[in-house]
Amino acid sequence: MKLFRADLHCHSTCSDGSLSPEELLQLAKDQDLQGLSITDHDTITAYETARPLAEKLGIQLISGVELSTNVKGVSVHLLGYAFDLENPAIRELCNRHHTRRMDRFHKMVEKLEQEGMPVDADAIVEKCGSSVGRPHIAQAMIDKGYVSSIKEAFNLHLGEGRPCYVPGSSFSAEEAIDTIHQAQGKAVIAHPHLIKRRSIVDYLINLDFDGIECYYARFAADQEKPWLKLAKKRDWLVTGGSDFHGDPKPHIPLGCSWAPEETFHLLHEHFLKVNGIR
Ligand code: AMP
Ligand code: ZN
Ligand code: FE
Ligand code: FE
Repeated sequence: MKLFRADLHCHSTCSDGSLSPEELLQLAKDQDLQGLSITDHDTITAYETARPLAEKLGIQLISGVELSTNVKGVSVHLLGYAFDLENPAIRELCNRHHTRRMDRFHKMVEKLEQEGMPVDADAIVEKCGSSVGRPHIAQAMIDKGYVSSIKEAFNLHLGEGRPCYVPGSSFSAEEAIDTIHQAQGKAVIAHPHLIKRRSIVDYLINLDFDGIECYYARFAADQEKPWLKLAKKRDWLVTGGSDFHGDPKPHIPLGCSWAPEETFHLLHEHFLKVNGIR
């Protein structure tokens, strides 16, 4: 029997991925994935084109988004799944993120200019979809010859505490969770493996989450264990995904992590119901 695989974490050109939603779905089809959620940073615009195409390709698509939040001054990503794509609250939160990202982007461009590394802001915005982020700036810096890789751009200039860094989201995790719930979706802790401070994890586990992303990217089984244990204790959904970005993260292929089949079906049924399909 064919293994059921649904990748619930990937990015398109609507945020900082290198494939369009259409190319992403076609790749999912070529890789034999049966299910997918496109989780762009702070935007759900991919679904305008992705929904009709997924149906044509026979891929089970569920709504998704990766929301940037600020927890005790640390950047924390949350995933929202299976929400109503037309819900005004989630659309409004994405709009506020858009304004916030544009504002931050221009501040970072200004800092780069001061550091003697001017970039063409309009050209970057033109290419970046609905959600401009540091990876887009890093690519422009490579194109200009200021750095040789995205990694170098982050390590020297754009990473937290580096000279051209401007802090990101000021939205709280509570607000993001509440908005996902207003849109009838499920709120999930993204890649807990990447959270460095124990105090942040301790804080998050007491919030009103519905799930946690235990299977992530290429992390090994022993690194999943504590999160699986936590999910069991809290009676949370266990989700999984690759965090595929295409060119910006060439070492992470689509489908290298996926959600358990029964969790996916549960989310898919929920998605169909809240979006009035069933
Ligand atoms: P932003 O949302 O603008 O703060 O950008 C965050 C994105 O930048 C993340 O989702 C990662 O894909 C990427 N990123 C963050 N830190 C690094 C790093 N040190 N090297 C390469 N990419 C990074
Ligand atoms: Zn990203
Ligand atoms: Fe993330
Ligand atoms: Fe991501």
